[in-house]
Amino acid sequence: MRLKNVPGSREAVANCAFAIDEPGEFKGRWAREVFDNDLPIYIEVGMGKGKFITELARRNPQINYVGIEKYSSVLIRAIEKTQNDPLPNLRFIRMDAEDIEDIFAKGEVAGIYLNFSDPWPKDRHAKRRLPSRRFLERFANILTDEGSIEFKTDNRELFEFALEEAPAAGWKIVCSTFDLHNDPSMNEGNIMTEYEEKFSGQGHPICKYVITR
Ligand code: SAM
Repeated sequence: MRLKNVPGSREAVANCAFAIDEPGEFKGRWAREVFDNDLPIYIEVGMGKGKFITELARRNPQINYVGIEKYSSVLIRAIEKTQNDPLPNLRFIRMDAEDIEDIFAKGEVAGIYLNFSDPWPKDRHAKRRLPSRRFLERFANILTDEGSIEFKTDNRELFEFALEEAPAAGWKIVCSTFDLHNDPSMNEGNIMTEYEEKFSGQGHPICKYVITR
Protein backbone atom coordinates (compact mmCIF):
# COMPACT_ATOMS: atom_id res chain seq x y z
CA MET A 1 0.00 0.00 0.00
CA ARG A 2 1.12 3.56 -0.68
CA LEU A 3 2.11 5.38 2.50
CA LYS A 4 1.93 9.07 3.21
CA ASN A 5 4.48 10.36 5.66
CA VAL A 6 2.66 12.10 8.50
CA PRO A 7 5.07 14.59 10.07
CA GLY A 8 5.26 14.19 13.84
CA SER A 9 3.47 10.81 13.87
CA ARG A 10 6.42 8.95 15.41
CA GLU A 11 6.55 11.40 18.32
CA ALA A 12 2.74 11.39 18.69
CA VAL A 13 2.70 7.58 18.89
CA ALA A 14 5.58 7.61 21.40
CA ASN A 15 3.71 10.13 23.59
CA CYS A 16 0.36 8.34 23.46
CA ALA A 17 -0.62 6.54 26.68
CA PHE A 18 -2.51 3.88 24.68
CA ALA A 19 0.43 2.94 22.46
CA ILE A 20 2.78 0.65 24.34
CA ASP A 21 6.35 1.85 23.93
CA GLU A 22 8.35 -1.16 25.16
CA PRO A 23 5.88 -3.99 24.52
CA GLY A 24 8.45 -6.74 25.19
CA GLU A 25 8.45 -5.75 28.87
CA PHE A 26 4.95 -7.15 29.29
CA LYS A 27 5.53 -10.55 27.70
CA GLY A 28 3.54 -13.10 29.69
CA ARG A 29 1.89 -10.38 31.83
CA TRP A 30 -0.25 -8.36 29.41
CA ALA A 31 -3.66 -8.90 31.00
CA ARG A 32 -2.54 -8.26 34.56
CA GLU A 33 -0.04 -5.45 33.99
CA VAL A 34 -1.38 -3.59 30.98
CA PHE A 35 -5.14 -4.08 31.42
CA ASP A 36 -5.24 -4.75 35.17
CA ASN A 37 -7.54 -7.79 34.76
CA ASP A 38 -7.52 -11.49 33.80
CA LEU A 39 -9.62 -11.17 30.64
CA PRO A 40 -8.66 -12.82 27.33
CA ILE A 41 -6.52 -10.93 24.80
CA TYR A 42 -7.29 -10.70 21.08
CA ILE A 43 -4.97 -8.98 18.63
CA GLU A 44 -5.30 -7.56 15.13
CA VAL A 45 -2.10 -7.72 13.08
CA GLY A 46 -1.82 -5.02 10.42
CA MET A 47 -4.71 -2.99 11.84
CA GLY A 48 -4.19 0.04 9.60
CA LYS A 49 -6.27 3.00 10.78
CA GLY A 50 -8.00 0.88 13.42
CA LYS A 51 -11.71 1.09 12.58
CA PHE A 52 -12.24 -2.67 13.05
CA ILE A 53 -10.44 -3.19 16.36
CA THR A 54 -11.78 0.05 17.86
CA GLU A 55 -15.37 -0.97 17.13
CA LEU A 56 -14.68 -4.52 18.37
CA ALA A 57 -13.29 -3.14 21.65
CA ARG A 58 -16.30 -0.86 22.02
CA ARG A 59 -18.73 -3.78 21.55
CA ASN A 60 -16.85 -6.21 23.83
CA PRO A 61 -15.70 -4.58 27.07
CA GLN A 62 -15.08 -8.05 28.57
CA ILE A 63 -12.20 -8.68 26.14
CA ASN A 64 -8.78 -7.00 25.94
CA TYR A 65 -7.63 -5.94 22.46
CA VAL A 66 -4.20 -5.06 21.11
CA GLY A 67 -3.86 -3.55 17.63
CA ILE A 68 -0.52 -4.00 15.87
CA GLU A 69 0.62 -1.79 12.99
CA LYS A 70 4.02 -1.42 11.37
CA TYR A 71 3.88 2.30 10.55
CA SER A 72 3.35 5.22 12.91
CA SER A 73 1.98 7.33 10.03
CA VAL A 74 -0.93 4.84 9.86
CA LEU A 75 -1.23 4.05 13.56
CA ILE A 76 -1.61 7.73 14.38
CA ARG A 77 -5.02 7.66 12.65
CA ALA A 78 -6.21 4.92 15.02
CA ILE A 79 -4.91 6.85 17.99
CA GLU A 80 -6.76 9.96 16.85
CA LYS A 81 -9.99 7.92 16.74
CA THR A 82 -9.71 6.92 20.40
CA GLN A 83 -8.11 10.03 21.89
CA ASN A 84 -11.36 11.80 22.76
CA ASP A 85 -13.09 8.60 23.87
CA PRO A 86 -10.40 6.25 25.22
CA LEU A 87 -11.30 2.59 25.66
CA PRO A 88 -9.85 0.84 28.73
CA ASN A 89 -9.69 -2.49 26.85
CA LEU A 90 -7.73 -1.29 23.79
CA ARG A 91 -3.99 -0.72 23.32
CA PHE A 92 -1.75 -0.31 20.26
CA ILE A 93 1.75 -1.38 19.35
CA ARG A 94 3.84 0.01 16.49
CA MET A 95 5.94 -2.92 15.38
CA ASP A 96 6.64 -5.44 12.65
CA ALA A 97 4.68 -8.60 13.40
CA GLU A 98 7.78 -10.64 12.52
CA ASP A 99 8.80 -10.09 16.15
CA ILE A 100 5.45 -11.04 17.68
CA GLU A 101 6.95 -13.90 19.71
CA ASP A 102 9.11 -11.36 21.57
CA ILE A 103 5.98 -9.55 22.73
CA PHE A 104 3.50 -12.26 23.74
CA ALA A 105 4.21 -15.51 25.60
CA LYS A 106 3.02 -18.95 24.55
CA GLY A 107 -0.74 -19.19 25.10
CA GLU A 108 -1.15 -15.51 25.97
CA VAL A 109 -3.39 -14.61 23.02
CA ALA A 110 -6.90 -16.04 22.54
CA GLY A 111 -7.41 -14.94 18.94
CA ILE A 112 -5.82 -13.14 16.01
CA TYR A 113 -7.47 -11.05 13.30
CA LEU A 114 -5.78 -10.51 9.94
CA ASN A 115 -7.71 -8.07 7.78
CA PHE A 116 -6.80 -7.24 4.18
CA SER A 117 -3.17 -8.18 4.73
CA ASP A 118 -0.71 -6.93 2.13
CA PRO A 119 -0.68 -9.51 -0.72
CA TRP A 120 3.07 -9.43 -1.57
CA PRO A 121 2.29 -10.88 -5.05
CA LYS A 122 5.87 -11.85 -6.01
CA ASP A 123 6.73 -15.49 -5.16
CA ARG A 124 10.00 -14.48 -3.57
CA HIS A 125 8.07 -12.36 -1.05
CA ALA A 126 5.59 -15.11 -0.07
CA LYS A 127 7.09 -15.43 3.40
CA ARG A 128 6.13 -11.82 4.14
CA ARG A 129 2.43 -12.60 3.68
CA LEU A 130 0.74 -12.66 7.08
CA PRO A 131 -1.28 -15.87 6.35
CA SER A 132 1.90 -17.67 5.17
CA ARG A 133 3.07 -20.79 7.03
CA ARG A 134 6.02 -18.84 8.38
CA PHE A 135 3.72 -16.33 10.11
CA LEU A 136 1.27 -19.09 11.11
CA GLU A 137 4.12 -20.74 13.04
CA ARG A 138 4.81 -17.52 14.90
CA PHE A 139 1.10 -17.08 15.62
CA ALA A 140 0.85 -20.70 16.88
CA ASN A 141 3.54 -19.84 19.41
CA ILE A 142 1.50 -17.09 21.08
CA LEU A 143 -2.04 -18.51 20.82
CA THR A 144 -3.89 -20.59 23.41
CA ASP A 145 -4.50 -24.23 22.36
CA GLU A 146 -8.07 -23.37 21.25
CA GLY A 147 -6.97 -20.03 19.76
CA SER A 148 -8.17 -19.10 16.28
CA ILE A 149 -7.18 -16.85 13.41
CA GLU A 150 -9.79 -14.97 11.40
CA PHE A 151 -8.59 -13.69 8.02
CA LYS A 152 -10.47 -11.46 5.57
CA THR A 153 -9.36 -10.22 2.16
CA ASP A 154 -10.72 -9.14 -1.20
CA ASN A 155 -7.67 -10.67 -2.90
CA ARG A 156 -8.71 -14.09 -4.21
CA GLU A 157 -5.16 -15.19 -5.04
CA LEU A 158 -3.97 -14.36 -1.54
CA PHE A 159 -7.00 -16.17 -0.10
CA GLU A 160 -6.36 -19.29 -2.18
CA PHE A 161 -2.73 -19.19 -1.03
CA ALA A 162 -3.93 -18.87 2.60
CA LEU A 163 -6.32 -21.82 2.20
CA GLU A 164 -3.35 -23.97 1.11
CA GLU A 165 -0.90 -22.68 3.70
CA ALA A 166 -3.13 -23.31 6.74
CA PRO A 167 -3.44 -27.13 6.44
CA ALA A 168 0.19 -27.37 5.29
CA ALA A 169 1.17 -25.69 8.55
CA GLY A 170 -1.04 -28.03 10.64
CA TRP A 171 -4.14 -25.82 11.02
CA LYS A 172 -7.78 -26.85 10.52
CA ILE A 173 -10.12 -24.68 8.49
CA VAL A 174 -13.20 -24.20 10.68
CA CYS A 175 -15.16 -22.31 8.01
CA SER A 176 -14.46 -20.30 4.88
CA THR A 177 -16.28 -18.34 2.22
CA PHE A 178 -15.45 -16.55 -1.03
CA ASP A 179 -18.38 -14.17 -0.50
CA LEU A 180 -18.65 -13.12 3.12
CA HIS A 181 -21.32 -10.46 2.69
CA ASN A 182 -23.66 -13.02 1.09
CA ASP A 183 -22.99 -15.73 3.68
CA PRO A 184 -25.50 -15.04 6.47
CA SER A 185 -23.89 -17.24 9.13
CA MET A 186 -20.28 -16.09 8.58
CA ASN A 187 -21.34 -12.48 8.12
CA GLU A 188 -23.27 -12.31 11.40
CA GLY A 189 -21.80 -9.53 13.57
CA ASN A 190 -19.23 -8.67 10.87
CA ILE A 191 -17.43 -5.39 11.45
CA MET A 192 -16.18 -3.84 8.24
CA THR A 193 -12.60 -2.60 8.09
CA GLU A 194 -11.55 0.51 6.15
CA TYR A 195 -10.35 -1.65 3.24
CA GLU A 196 -13.45 -3.84 3.36
CA GLU A 197 -15.71 -0.79 2.98
CA LYS A 198 -13.63 0.44 0.06
CA PHE A 199 -13.37 -2.85 -1.86
CA SER A 200 -16.88 -4.12 -1.21
CA GLY A 201 -18.11 -0.67 -2.26
CA GLN A 202 -16.35 -1.28 -5.59
CA GLY A 203 -18.21 -4.60 -5.95
CA HIS A 204 -15.38 -6.95 -4.89
CA PRO A 205 -16.56 -10.03 -2.96
CA ILE A 206 -14.84 -10.48 0.39
CA CYS A 207 -13.22 -13.80 1.34
CA LYS A 208 -12.90 -15.02 4.92
CA TYR A 209 -11.65 -18.04 6.82
CA VAL A 210 -11.48 -19.05 10.46
CA ILE A 211 -8.72 -21.51 11.36
CA THR A 212 -7.64 -23.28 14.51
CA ARG A 213 -5.10 -25.99 15.39
N1 SAM B 1 -6.50 -3.99 8.33
C1 SAM B 1 -6.73 -2.71 7.74
C2 SAM B 1 -7.98 -2.74 6.91
O1 SAM B 1 -8.47 -3.84 6.61
O2 SAM B 1 -8.51 -1.67 6.57
C3 SAM B 1 -5.51 -2.25 6.91
C4 SAM B 1 -5.18 -3.07 5.70
S1 SAM B 1 -3.68 -2.55 4.90
C5 SAM B 1 -3.79 -3.23 3.31
C6 SAM B 1 -2.47 -3.60 5.64
C7 SAM B 1 -1.85 -3.00 6.90
O3 SAM B 1 -1.02 -3.98 7.51
C8 SAM B 1 -0.99 -1.80 6.62
O4 SAM B 1 -1.35 -0.72 7.47
C9 SAM B 1 0.44 -2.30 6.89
O5 SAM B 1 1.31 -1.27 7.35
C10 SAM B 1 0.18 -3.36 7.94
N2 SAM B 1 1.21 -4.42 7.97
C11 SAM B 1 1.65 -5.13 6.90
N3 SAM B 1 2.60 -6.00 7.28
C12 SAM B 1 2.75 -5.85 8.62
C13 SAM B 1 3.58 -6.45 9.57
N4 SAM B 1 4.46 -7.39 9.23
N5 SAM B 1 3.48 -6.04 10.86
C14 SAM B 1 2.60 -5.08 11.22
N6 SAM B 1 1.78 -4.47 10.35
C15 SAM B 1 1.85 -4.83 9.06
